[in-house]
Amino acid sequence: MNSRRVGRMTKEIPWRRLRSWACLRCGKCCSKFKVTLRPYEYAKISELMPEAVVPDVKPFLRKIGGKCVFQNEYGLCDLQELGLKPFSCKVWPFLVYKKPKSINPGEAEFHYNDEKYYVYLNQHAFICTGVNMGMPEELPNIIWEVIEIYKNPWRKQKYSTSRLVHLQETINIGWARP
Ligand code: SF4
Repeated sequence: MNSRRVGRMTKEIPWRRLRSWACLRCGKCCSKFKVTLRPYEYAKISELMPEAVVPDVKPFLRKIGGKCVFQNEYGLCDLQELGLKPFSCKVWPFLVYKKPKSINPGEAEFHYNDEKYYVYLNQHAFICTGVNMGMPEELPNIIWEVIEIYKNPWRKQKYSTSRLVHLQETINIGWARP
């Protein structure tokens, strides 16, 4: 996939067809999708801010003005700083599987230590303005991190999120210093 725009996708795309990816904070994913929560996410987030969660068979995050209540004015996720960003948002726009979902498994294969995973771009990733943006050499780091999040949803993000998060963290640390 060489073009900057992915175009309308009808199925999941193996990660090797991607040139690069970077979050540009456009916020489209925070408006377009319903963020359903895993039980432990629901427990923690509803304890912190009950009005932000819609209780349902599959509870989900509320939207205000068409966007997720936790998306701040910089296009960043306020839950991320609290270590509570939901799993589905952390791995977006990627999907990780233990078994291949496509005809050519090699295109989706990723070797993580002595394990093998299959990573795809979400079939709705055509809305993500970050597809094929950023530096191609960082893509393996991003995929590696997404697999680590798949294995441990609490893992902190470095490559698979907006770089502005790190700038914000640096500034916050700077402010905290005497
Ligand atoms: S992940 Fe993609 S859709 Fe979501 S804010 Fe970043 S660039 Fe936009």
